[in-house]
Amino acid sequence: MESLPGVGPALSRKLAKLGLRTVRDLLEHRPHRYETAVPERRIADLMAGEEAAIAGEVRGVSVRRPRRNLAIVQARVADASDEITAVWFNQAWLQEKLRPGTRVRLRGKLDRNGFQVRSYDLNGVSATADFAPVYPASEEVTPKRLRGLVERALVHARDLPDPLPAALKASERLPLLPDALVVLHRPRSLEEGEEARRRLAFDELLVLQVGLARARTGREQARARPLGEPGALVARYRELLPFELTADQEQAIAEIGRDLAREAPMQRLLQGDVGSGKTVVALYALLRAVEAGLSGALMAPTETLAEQHFLTIEPWCAELGVRAVLLTGSVKSDLEGAQIVVGTHALIQEGVDLGELAVAVVDEQHRFGVEQRRALVEGQAPHVLHMTATPIPRTLALTLYGDLSVTEIAHLPASRKPIVTSWVTAERSSAAYTRLRKHLDAGRQAYVVCPLIEETESSRRAAEAEAERLRRVELKGYRVGLLHGRLRPAERRELMAGFKAGELDVLVATTVIEVGVDVPNATIMIVQEADRFGLAQLHQLRGRVGRGAEQSYCLLISRPHEELTDDAKARLQALVDSNDGFELAEKDLELRGEGQLLGTRQSGLSDLRFVHWRRDRPLLERARAAAEGLVDYEGPLAEEVERAFADREPAA
Ligand code: ADP
Ligand code: MG
Repeated sequence: MESLPGVGPALSRKLAKLGLRTVRDLLEHRPHRYETAVPERRIADLMAGEEAAIAGEVRGVSVRRPRRNLAIVQARVADASDEITAVWFNQAWLQEKLRPGTRVRLRGKLDRNGFQVRSYDLNGVSATADFAPVYPASEEVTPKRLRGLVERALVHARDLPDPLPAALKASERLPLLPDALVVLHRPRSLEEGEEARRRLAFDELLVLQVGLARARTGREQARARPLGEPGALVARYRELLPFELTADQEQAIAEIGRDLAREAPMQRLLQGDVGSGKTVVALYALLRAVEAGLSGALMAPTETLAEQHFLTIEPWCAELGVRAVLLTGSVKSDLEGAQIVVGTHALIQEGVDLGELAVAVVDEQHRFGVEQRRALVEGQAPHVLHMTATPIPRTLALTLYGDLSVTEIAHLPASRKPIVTSWVTAERSSAAYTRLRKHLDAGRQAYVVCPLIEETESSRRAAEAEAERLRRVELKGYRVGLLHGRLRPAERRELMAGFKAGELDVLVATTVIEVGVDVPNATIMIVQEADRFGLAQLHQLRGRVGRGAEQSYCLLISRPHEELTDDAKARLQALVDSNDGFELAEKDLELRGEGQLLGTRQSGLSDLRFVHWRRDRPLLERARAAAEGLVDYEGPLAEEVERAFADREPAA
């Protein structure tokens, strides 16, 4: 970085905070938008409200400070036609620069108070140009400074190795890498900028796909224990279940069965909404290991979830005469003779002997670090089933986890009634609590969720205060328990058991993941300040009701409409409109646009900067197809793959 003129150690440090460490990082610093094309007007021709550019000379400048924290810079700017007051907010230092006689080009809008400046150039045209790039910047490094640095970096665009084989560039009609980089920062139209972005996104997708294809090839060489045909134990298990498996569950079991019969270790992702019946399928896979005389393990990302899984499967195991044990940070069981071990990553800590592990089920795999996942399978190659209750669209799953096969449980058991969701604003929260109390009076139970994102000591006090308030006001006379992340595991277990046994009417909960509770009698949930949660998170939460045969309800309470962003409104409306996790995942993706997708980071790859998940589906398919033939390709592409996948490898 310091090879660039004008970049010293101090600036380097500031840039590093933006993730910009090398010239290449600068070249790949994607503008988050471009300025639009605006007309250049004579000052006399400016129309109020229209975005336009003007060019002229500074006649005089002044700064006003009407309030603390507010500085208004006003400059008189003249061209041949007229004179106008240009206005900047909070950039008092500009006064120095706007000396009388300075040539300026300004982009902005005329209103009652003058010409409101959005961007400006002194003695030249760059920031105010049509399609000028607007970069993610920081307070320490202004957009203007970044633009200058990128300009200087562009000289080096030709030094970057182009990872794409020439034939592929031709067949895909993609521009050369240096050209794409130059155009990315200096497009002459939005279309041109988009074309450059697509080329760079293609590179990222191709590197990802080649890496995944290599991982697949590598795994084909690993060996697992083939488990043959299903036997008597799983037959008894099926008879034990008090319900018929759904068609999707049967399909999942059939696919898993085929995987388990092979020598190549299973690597399958089982996607399905909360309550869709994944655990039943997972236990099937574990029992297949047991009946082969081997062992199975189920790992969850938190103690609560591990306990929950254990509570679900243990009674079945007991009936089948299978020894299942729970092993977490706070529960140390005797592993002697264990056939199924359920736990957190404490499972994979050193010294835990899992016997001859044939099947591992990993719940919510994206919450596990890559290394933790790897450690589980180190040395042995068990069949692995990954489960997730935050489904992502299938094509995307194949992209991110392209080394996994994907099974979906798309339909809930038919006995389940879809949850009715409504959204009200805070003014109407008392009506929501009235409804909740009706359920309680009918003998049902309820959840109230408060959005305390961080589990700190002070938020614990806030949670306790809120529970106290509810006990005094809305939930007066009812038995209210409080579940928060600061409880000791034993306290938490006791609380959850009490709620399950009906000793509490309402569970006030502060965190999402800690609510790993399956209580069919809980039929209504209120989520306070629901606009502060993400879409997937809310959908997950909502899955805690609707687990019995009764009609269940979810009431989302938000701040008033005028305080909500459009996105927040769209999120809440999507939940009202749909109960389908796959559909909501699509919606989430659409709303978040190119934002961080859950899973990309956890997949162990550095962020994909150029990919736009929705728009780039066709591109993704093309990259996937192209990658097939490039697994053994040498050269810059191979180096890129190694670079991108470096953090997938275990620490040396
Ligand atoms: P998930 O793990 O996907 O959240 P579970 O396997 O825990 O779902 O199932 C949720 C609830 O539905 C459990 O009480 C389970 O016993 C029940 N269940 C599972 N499969 C079926 C089915 N086919 N029909 C009726 N109920 C089912
Ligand atoms: Mg479950």
